[in-house]
Amino acid sequence: MDNAATTNVTKEVLEEMRPYLIDNYGNPSAQYNIGVEAKKAIQKARERVANGIRARPEEIYFTSCGSESDNWAIKGVCEKQRLKDKNKIITTNIEHPAVLNTCKYLEKHGFEVIYIPVDKNGFITAQQVENVIDDDTAIVSVMYANNEIGSIQPVSEIGVVCRRYGVPLHVDAVQAIGNVDINVSESNIDLMSISGHKIHAPKGVGCLYIRNGIDCSPLIHGGGQENGFRSGTENVASIVGFGKAMETTTSDIKNKIDYVKNLRDYLLCNIVDGEFIKLNGSIENRLCGNLNVSFKNCEGESIALQLANYDIYVSAKSACSAGNLEPSHVIKAIEKDENYLYGSVRFSLNEHNTQEEIDYLINTIKKLVIFNQR
Ligand code: PLP
Repeated sequence: MDNAATTNVTKEVLEEMRPYLIDNYGNPSAQYNIGVEAKKAIQKARERVANGIRARPEEIYFTSCGSESDNWAIKGVCEKQRLKDKNKIITTNIEHPAVLNTCKYLEKHGFEVIYIPVDKNGFITAQQVENVIDDDTAIVSVMYANNEIGSIQPVSEIGVVCRRYGVPLHVDAVQAIGNVDINVSESNIDLMSISGHKIHAPKGVGCLYIRNGIDCSPLIHGGGQENGFRSGTENVASIVGFGKAMETTTSDIKNKIDYVKNLRDYLLCNIVDGEFIKLNGSIENRLCGNLNVSFKNCEGESIALQLANYDIYVSAKSACSAGNLEPSHVIKAIEKDENYLYGSVRFSLNEHNTQEEIDYLINTIKKLVIFNQR
């Protein structure tokens, strides 16, 4: 129930990867057969990833993870924009730390950062972006969907505002990919971060989409791989796995969304009472598999540990900040009632979850709730 933290590598993904670990293990820059085969496999993966988001293959740059893609997009664009005296970054107050901490770093290096506050359901509006964007703006970075409460931002409308001002729009789509049918062109997105391990590829691979014509500095200088933008011998097998995972996750996405949403809504109806267990955020415009609730006057970590005793794995906060008992910055941004600040728990379902598992979860929560309320 913690698929937003990570997912398993599926058998079909592993099978596609295997030859590039054992037989066709050549360096993709080599001229001989096993190198050429590896290079071809990377190109096929690039096409699969591009198809999944309706981009062109040459707009996909493989990276090691979503965090790397977020860092690269923002720092890479800001470095270029600074040359034009553009020193302002616009983002939201509920971004992932990979974006927030990159912005903090750039603040120390002279950039001004505007953190647009979300409303009580975790949304910003295009109008809020329009209110602060100007000729000094270097980049707008807004997440497609939030990792804790699943709120899906009006990316396309925000993109219209950015285009009008000639400002590049970066979108962190790490949680959206595989859960939303993404079309980068129709959504006016200029740069987009994706991570493989959220969609059944291995950990350690991701990509940055950079629309043709967007000015962004290279990330790693060296032998010129990834069109000179991210040097270093490619992680061939993982890239191949990522390509396969992307093809699978996007090929039947509408049915997947319906299936997962039904499970999620069933869970919601059976546990949320609005008093002891309250929904965080809105059910509208929310990732299909995301349910984030607060248990009144409880600690989310403690609920998560109790559920783990029943082999149910959930997240009390985003995995990156787990173990830190401060309320999450996302819940703090949307919840003003102290009674609900510390008890947030995220369930993130995917297409591998079953009705039986959800029933087991519901029954377990009911047992725990009775125990907690006594
Ligand atoms: N952005 C969002 C919204 C995320 O949820 C995550 C990870 O959970 C990341 C970025 C970082 O991705 P990665 O774990 O691949 O570095």
